[in-house]
Amino acid sequence: MSSERNGVAVLRTNHWLTALLDRIWNDHFWDVARVNEVTIEFSRHWKTRLGLIRMTESQARTYIAINGLLRHPEVPEFVVSLTTAHELCHYAHGFGSPLPRRYHHPHAGNVVGKELERRGLGHLIEAYENWIAECWHDFYESQVQHFALPQRPPTVARSRAAAAAAASLR
Ligand SMILES: [Zn+2]
Repeated sequence: MSSERNGVAVLRTNHWLTALLDRIWNDHFWDVARVNEVTIEFSRHWKTRLGLIRMTESQARTYIAINGLLRHPEVPEFVVSLTTAHELCHYAHGFGSPLPRRYHHPHAGNVVGKELERRGLGHLIEAYENWIAECWHDFYESQVQHFALPQRPPTVARSRAAAAAAASLR
C-alpha cells in the first residue's frame, strides 16, 4: 500500500484496520474462538495509550479502539500490528471478551508478552518498544500541535524512560 499520494501522507482507514485484525486473527490467533461481534476502529489521540478493548454489558459486542494517531503512515505498520495483537491477547485471556477469564489482572506477570511470544510475534516486541521509547513522544507532540490551542503552555521535557513508561500503558 502506498503511503503517499502527490506528496501527501495517506492515512490508514478503519477498513484497512479491520483487514489487519482479520489477518492477525487468522495467522496468529486462529485457535481463539470469535464468540461475539468484534469491531476495531481508530479512536482518540491518547497520549499514554495505544489501544484498549472493552465489551458491552450484554457481551454481544467487543470494541477494540486503536489510538487515532496510528493512522499516520509515519508510524511503522508493526506498531499498529502489535498494538492490535496486544488487544487480541486480552480477548483470548477473557478481558473484553466473553471467553473464560484466565488471569486475575490483564497484565499480571507479563502474560501479554508471553502470549505474543507463544504466538510467533515475539520478534516484533523489541522494535515496538524501541519505537515507543525513541519516537512516540516527539511524534505525539508533532501531531497534537495541529490541534493545540494558542494558549497551550509549553511542554515540559520528559525523559525517554518516562515517555516509554507512559506509552506502555496500553
Ligand atoms: Zn493491555
